[in-house]
Amino acid sequence: MRLTVLGKSPSWQDAGGACSGYLIEESGTSVLLDCGNGVFGKLRERIDYVDVDAVVISHLHADHFLDLVPFSYALTYAPRQQPVPVDRWPGTESPARPELHVPPGAVATLRRVVGAWGSEDLIENAFDLREYQAQSRLEIGPLRIRFQPVPHFTETFAMRISSESGAGRLVYGADCGPTEALSEFASGADLIMVEATLPRPERSGQRGHLTPGEAGRQAREAGAGRLLLVHISDELDTDRARNEAEAAFGGPVEVASEGATFEI
Ligand SMILES: [Zn+2]
Ligand SMILES: [Zn+2]
Repeated sequence: MRLTVLGKSPSWQDAGGACSGYLIEESGTSVLLDCGNGVFGKLRERIDYVDVDAVVISHLHADHFLDLVPFSYALTYAPRQQPVPVDRWPGTESPARPELHVPPGAVATLRRVVGAWGSEDLIENAFDLREYQAQSRLEIGPLRIRFQPVPHFTETFAMRISSESGAGRLVYGADCGPTEALSEFASGADLIMVEATLPRPERSGQRGHLTPGEAGRQAREAGAGRLLLVHISDELDTDRARNEAEAAFGGPVEVASEGATFEI
């Protein structure tokens, strides 16, 4: 299984960067985890968007789903998706319609978002749209995906990805505050992706994000093989984040950068 970081910015993009988007490729199957602003262009640099089998969204914060909008426009209006010849494209009887798996209640929310300019059914017409539940198990080609609710400011799901073809286990922690639930869910993961949004914990209110040190603790408690820090701004010091996480984890840590790939 190969993981490619398409975008790893928090809710505002790095210079020239993209928000959350992680491409998983395994035996000819391609799945995109999250599709934040900037991700669609980064995806197109890597693979043809009509070859994406499924998109899975962890939660409905803008930085995790906004580029479903341009992705939907491409699937709807691109000349190559039309039934008749247009320009150099021959026309197709079977336009691409990737699966789009979203959290409970997200269908109505997505309708409201694109409905703001009168395109209520844009996303559901472009994709094969389905809501998952906490106990859902997705099967996409050889990939298997399970979910775990994690504490954040809106309903959010971590994901555990494995393969029938025998690759290792990958866990994507999505956005989350400190929680035992993630460590248990990620137990024995070969690679765990944990957010490291904060240079210091939130000073008031609910915890919804992690520092690099806290991310390291989550990985240690999970007994993970490797830790990849994600959801971290280019305005923070990468070396400091890695050192802090390594001290808490006691294992190898990498800070996500766009285009980085990992074999699992
Ligand atoms: Zn986020
Ligand atoms: Zn979020």
